[in-house]
Amino acid sequence: MGKKIQSLDLTIGYNFLGILYSKNTLSDNKSICPQLTDDFLQKLNSCIGKLLYKLEKEYTGSNINWNDCSVYTGVSGIALLYVRLYDIGIRPDGLQTALKFVEPCLQKLKNAKASFLCGDSGPLCVAALVYKRLNNVDKYESCVNQLINLRAIAMKGDTPDEILSGRAGYLYSLLFIKERVTSVDEELIRSIVKEIVRSGRSYGDPDSLGVSLMFEWHGKRYLGAAHGVSGIISMLFKSGLVDSRQLSKEVDCLRALQFKSGNYPSSLPIGSDKLVHWCHGSPGFTFMFVEAYRKTGAECHLKSAVDCAESIWRMGLLRKGYGLCHGIAGNAYALLTVYQTTQDIKYLHRAAKFAEFCFDYGKHGCKQPDRPYSLFEGLAGTIYFLVELLEPMSAKFPSFDDV
Ligand SMILES: [Zn+2]
Repeated sequence: MGKKIQSLDLTIGYNFLGILYSKNTLSDNKSICPQLTDDFLQKLNSCIGKLLYKLEKEYTGSNINWNDCSVYTGVSGIALLYVRLYDIGIRPDGLQTALKFVEPCLQKLKNAKASFLCGDSGPLCVAALVYKRLNNVDKYESCVNQLINLRAIAMKGDTPDEILSGRAGYLYSLLFIKERVTSVDEELIRSIVKEIVRSGRSYGDPDSLGVSLMFEWHGKRYLGAAHGVSGIISMLFKSGLVDSRQLSKEVDCLRALQFKSGNYPSSLPIGSDKLVHWCHGSPGFTFMFVEAYRKTGAECHLKSAVDCAESIWRMGLLRKGYGLCHGIAGNAYALLTVYQTTQDIKYLHRAAKFAEFCFDYGKHGCKQPDRPYSLFEGLAGTIYFLVELLEPMSAKFPSFDDV
């Protein structure tokens, strides 16, 4: 499923013509700041306009499933896109549109999962953010209080640790609120981090794998960003509450699992080398290595992130489509994070090439996702990525790397 699209020859190398040009932006000429060319930006803007038109024309009526309020595949993810469109100036009424989508979700909370992507904290965080921007203090405080009450679910024994629907996803929510909305009790954050570490140690395998932290989901030890250890470790780094040297050692052990291709397995025991997604494979691992490098400065982590980016360039144009979770937009974000960290414009160029592929959205014979308009599987995620490419140095994989 992670096969590259054979019709596009990626072995040619990179041709800057038409996508990037370099110009000196600092007077002392010490730093070269690459820019997307006017021609490319024009095409990018035109594609954003075209895809937004498609989303707004088609995502109405029975095409909206109001029973799915999640950020991952549901209505709150669309709301999050509109907050971004508002921020970047593309939709001046974006906050109102976001509210139209997310407000009904607050009446449909299920009190079953605490994570951002698939649980109640997604709609609560997105609503809190919109209310904050609209200066509605009572309402955002109410959302934050409800979010804090989800701690009980996050701490339950049968709650998994993963990003998608578990504790690390709840941890993300707390960091999201702390960064964008209001202060959060540090002890609450610490208690979730402690629980994740405790749980990780109980599945750890220091003898054969060397890892002290490992996690289980549905009886399996997953490694990728959505369900597995790489995503959880990224979030532990982001919390700033676990010793970076300790996490760095875990990252060193996980590095040993790399396939010859540069990709990483999705779970243990190691199976075949076929998935190159944010959810499973090297794109998700990239963020962990970048985070480890940022926190420790160890060059080995940066080298691993670059290795991941190389594997994404070779194998990351997917038949699964243009989305974030297991699609081209998500893989492009991994290239962008390597560009931001290394300042090597090769990776900006490659992310732009992936964007260029999205310019012909729906015309490559890729698989139609189950939730075709959603943030993580579908059109909204592609638009989110294309919009962020307008400012590539600040682009961050949403709902995961943007805290
Ligand atoms: Zn996926």
